[in-house]
Amino acid sequence: IVKYSQVTKSFGDLEVIKGIDLEMAPGEKLALIGPSGSGKTTLGRMLMTLEEPTSGTIELDGEGLWHMPRKGAFVRADERHLHRMRGKVGMVFQHFNLFPHMTVLRNVTEAPRKVLGLSREEAAERAVSMLGKVGLQDKLDVYPAQLSGGQKQRVAIARALVMRPMVMVFDEVTSALDPELVGEVLEVIREIAEEGSMAMMLITHEMDFAKDVADRVIFGAEGRIVEQGPPEAIFENPQSERLQSFLKRFR
Ligand code: ATP
Repeated sequence: IVKYSQVTKSFGDLEVIKGIDLEMAPGEKLALIGPSGSGKTTLGRMLMTLEEPTSGTIELDGEGLWHMPRKGAFVRADERHLHRMRGKVGMVFQHFNLFPHMTVLRNVTEAPRKVLGLSREEAAERAVSMLGKVGLQDKLDVYPAQLSGGQKQRVAIARALVMRPMVMVFDEVTSALDPELVGEVLEVIREIAEEGSMAMMLITHEMDFAKDVADRVIFGAEGRIVEQGPPEAIFENPQSERLQSFLKRFR
């Protein structure tokens, strides 16, 4: 459902992604692990159309993300194309990014109304059901400032899910949380993963979580994929010296 081909990304002189080939199957749960600064977030942001690759292509659901066909050739995607493709991807960030002046319910209904054109009632129905799924059915009329970090992050998850994306990118969604709040957020993600149908890219420093939830783990460093495989292989039998020393830090 997702295919990166020879993707590179530079910020000025700094090449952050150095030629990545990566495919995700429909419904696949993929964990990206690796040292800070290895380019994991940038990889997710390119899928979310927040960063444009410097070279290479990304396909989503059989279509170019950053390129579109025109008169037998491929040209750079225009805003309309990007907008349509963006609807297929959901992203949850480290820092929640909720709208502070909107209630929980409104945070979640805003995009379905504005982007999908749902009526107030339809959007509310979907949002309430999604907020129920993340255990916040009793917080609909509360403002983000009144919520704990874990609750805020669960609103952010509901807000992304309500758009029914094909792929969800979870970018270190627990890194900004107090340790005692990490569990509730991971639990929600675990439940979503078990439902199955949606592909998930989990950028994470939570190794136990990656081990439990992912079908496949990719270890990247300095903009390249160093090693990949099923979680058992990556965590129990790492081949490269880099991955071995990286994992030691979590023991
Ligand atoms: P972390 O685990 O710390 O989030 P990461 O593996 O997700 O790290 P990225 O956030 O993708 O890594 O960043 C990779 C590199 O790209 C870093 O050196 C970062 O400073 C740089 N970088 C990211 N975004 C930009 C930007 N908009 N402008 C300049 N440099 C950037």
